[in-house]
Amino acid sequence: MAKTPGCLYIAHMKDGPMIRIRLPGGAVTADQLRAVAALAGDLGSGLIDLTNRANLQVRGLHDITFDVLKTHLGGAGLLPKAAWADRIRNIVADPLDGRDPDALCDTRGLVEALDAAIQARPALKSLSSEVGFVVDNGGASGVAGLAHDIGLVAERAASGIRFRLTLAGTPTELVASEETAPLLAIAAARAAIALAAEAQSPLPRGLAAYGVGAKTWKQPTAAAVRLALALGGPYENRIRRLIKTVPVETIVERLEDFAEIPLERAAVADPLPVFDPSIGIVPEARSGFVSCGLGVPVGRLDVATTRHLAALADRHGDGTLRLAPWHAVFLPSVRTDAAEALLAEADRLGFVVDPAFVRIRLYACSGVEGCRGGRLHTKENGRAVFAAVAKTLGDAPLPEPLTIHVSGCIKGCAHRQQSDILALERNASYDVFENAAPGTEPPPDRHRGSASAETLPDLVADLARARFDRNAAE
Ligand code: SF4
Repeated sequence: MAKTPGCLYIAHMKDGPMIRIRLPGGAVTADQLRAVAALAGDLGSGLIDLTNRANLQVRGLHDITFDVLKTHLGGAGLLPKAAWADRIRNIVADPLDGRDPDALCDTRGLVEALDAAIQARPALKSLSSEVGFVVDNGGASGVAGLAHDIGLVAERAASGIRFRLTLAGTPTELVASEETAPLLAIAAARAAIALAAEAQSPLPRGLAAYGVGAKTWKQPTAAAVRLALALGGPYENRIRRLIKTVPVETIVERLEDFAEIPLERAAVADPLPVFDPSIGIVPEARSGFVSCGLGVPVGRLDVATTRHLAALADRHGDGTLRLAPWHAVFLPSVRTDAAEALLAEADRLGFVVDPAFVRIRLYACSGVEGCRGGRLHTKENGRAVFAAVAKTLGDAPLPEPLTIHVSGCIKGCAHRQQSDILALERNASYDVFENAAPGTEPPPDRHRGSASAETLPDLVADLARARFDRNAAE
């Protein structure tokens, strides 16, 4: 498995060196997008991926050097201030932030403050690059409903809007103001680092011989040892995995050791927001303006399309874009009377502009093009599956979005959770299952057939239709 890439951490994939450019909150300007397109076109294979966390990946960067990357990305303002923090700035936020009339607040400043706080704390150096932060403004998208490790979710309180800390999707009693919320998230990350180190290092047990017991272990005198352990990682400090052995309450308790602010508690009243992505024309709070969401099936862009996208943002919007963690791009500040023309142009460019895009959540890994373990063109096959299923379902009402995963092997890198329909590569064709997750062999009774790359779209479309018919009959 390749190491998690970053701007300056090159992952060596089958199709060559690849970098991942983190964009906290998915925020990017048209100029930055053009810089990424230039990098991909001049020095890479021309392929650019949108990730599930609204970041960008540039592939096939043969012969790339660190100096070129630093110059190119630095010139576009795409490098973090602290190079060591490059891979841990995984901050997902609502792409409609600051525009959604239903949101409780605008969290763009909070996202920036959290990013800055992360980069200002070298104690986070050993945080797993897989740890994901989410900031939810209380709006319609409900991004806190996405899988995450550490969340800050806006809620109403008598004193105004505050943010509740969530850990791996579990709301805690800890709340903070907008100003102090980043420090609450940082404390949670540091608690996870410390607990992971203690849980996985044999040292704490060995320290008993030196008179450090369970009680003294928690006293400030043991802080230096704890810090040394934490920095000595890597340990599995992704909270989503840590909670299998460490209860959320324990993480909250340990968080006190790292809090740089007085902790404030409030009983949990509301459930987590429900993830509800959108696409197409979305009204903005400002009268006369809308945001336009464009779907990018399987998250893959080429250089020409990326340049067109930047031009659309300049021509119709305010020169900024927001990537969404559902393989979509939003162009904000579009005049309402220009939105239809923009969507028509985007449609011609190959974007999906039908709001139904979000009803079919299709995941596909990099497959044979990008992974040494891949043998099939999973992204290309995924796009064909999406088109076939979208055509079959038409406007049929679905009680819930349909999740489809086209995976190049059992590892299932694109989506670890269960999907409604899972196509797994087998001997250069696909075995197709219903209600199955990758990682381990799905039960045989969920197998629905085998298909070549050419016949996969029809098989999946038939299964999708049958699911719809079953739901409609119930
Ligand atoms: S799931 Fe896809 S990307 Fe992951 S290892 Fe398998 S072929 Fe490679």
